[in-house]
Amino acid sequence: LGGRISRAIQQMNNVTIIDEKALNDCLNEITRALLQSDVSFPLVKDMQTNIKKIVNLEELASGHNKRRIIEQAIFNELCKMLDPGKPAFSPKKAKPCVVMFVGLQGAGKTTTCTKYAYYHQKKGYKAALVCADTFRAGAFDQLKQNATKAKIPFYGSYTESDPVKIAVEGVDRFKKENRDLIIVDTSGRHKQEATLFEEMRQVAEATKPDLVIFVMDSSIGQAAFEQAQAFKQSVAVGAVIITKMDGHAKGGGALSAVAATKSPVIFIGTGEHMDEFEVFETKQFVSRLLGNGDWSGFVNKLQEVVPKDQQPELLEKLSHGNFTLRIMYDQFQNLLNMGPLKEVFSMLPGISSEMMPQGGEKESQAKIKRYMTMMDSMTNEELDSSNPKVFNGSRIMRIARGSGRIVTEVMEMLEEYKRLTTMWGKMKGIKIPEKGNMNSL
Ligand code: GDP
Ligand code: MG
Repeated sequence: LGGRISRAIQQMNNVTIIDEKALNDCLNEITRALLQSDVSFPLVKDMQTNIKKIVNLEELASGHNKRRIIEQAIFNELCKMLDPGKPAFSPKKAKPCVVMFVGLQGAGKTTTCTKYAYYHQKKGYKAALVCADTFRAGAFDQLKQNATKAKIPFYGSYTESDPVKIAVEGVDRFKKENRDLIIVDTSGRHKQEATLFEEMRQVAEATKPDLVIFVMDSSIGQAAFEQAQAFKQSVAVGAVIITKMDGHAKGGGALSAVAATKSPVIFIGTGEHMDEFEVFETKQFVSRLLGNGDWSGFVNKLQEVVPKDQQPELLEKLSHGNFTLRIMYDQFQNLLNMGPLKEVFSMLPGISSEMMPQGGEKESQAKIKRYMTMMDSMTNEELDSSNPKVFNGSRIMRIARGSGRIVTEVMEMLEEYKRLTTMWGKMKGIKIPEKGNMNSL
């Protein structure tokens, strides 16, 4: 996607006169790319209209940073679409708050409930979990298991079949015990059925939640808007959590969920484990939406950055998932040789936001050089290892000493390496094109 958007903008750079048509062509291409990332059609249309209003043709025609102007406009528009204008309710300590989770079956409610409880417990809240899912066999066991692992008190029943009754009992009990964050897990059904919504309404009416969180699977694609809207119409959804962001989905459905519920996204789920849970960061999310996972765009750029004779070898290594520090070193070297870093950085998945602060070309160049100095103090074994665990304390200290930097800087560099490893790890298993024919990717 990122590549497609950048290409569309680049194409516009190539036309001599930026007129209405050139801009429209560009925006249409961007529209198609966003639709593929599950951003819903009406939203993309809105964005298109807004961008046309913002982007001034005259400015575009005269300035040489057309690309920056348009890219910035798209970025800002997407960020705005994720901002419903008011923050979500946040639980207060020492005052019992009830938070109810809703969403379709399999969306990740039960998992996310525990993550949410665990997250707050670490921040000093006294969390508790109530299982009001009497629909799915094994629901209580699942919650019990999660809660026990996280050492969070829980309430539920194997025999009671009335979800409203259990929810009320659980909430009452934990209120008496002065718990300040009481989380109610509810059942979901396959589809948006009337009975599910009726049950949800009743549980909400009986427990009077301070916050209802709608949990949505990021992989549901274009169905996001309708689904979120259906939930919002039945209960007072006040926040959204998007799950399974560790999968292939780009997460464009988040924009639909915000539009449909008029509520902010507060967290994202990035795995099955308790701590695979992140506070939602709008800018980071949009960067990811725009710049992540487009390997064809990335490979195109690779051709520009990496000298021709090194390309097949690099792709070969990456396709096996061996992103070593030496590869990072070589790529940094290539980047420094390239000249205008900004252009390249804006294309490289994973690098853009962190390493390339806005207007900070000089700083990032300095940072890269610093990183390379540290890597110069590494042994071959360290450079060729793809296991960051080899870096124990004494090695880190040696590298810091050898390069005249401080330990935290070495650790920061290794963090950056780890982050890039994850990004580049997605190259694993890609098909390597015939020699000299990388465009076929
Ligand atoms: P519920 O029916 O809405 O309560 O959904 P569950 O919490 O039972 O989750 C359904 C499945 O999705 C389980 O196998 C979870 O482990 C999995 N799951 C939930 N959240 C995530 C996530 O963020 N990433 C991944 N990879 N799996 C998740
Ligand atoms: Mg469940």
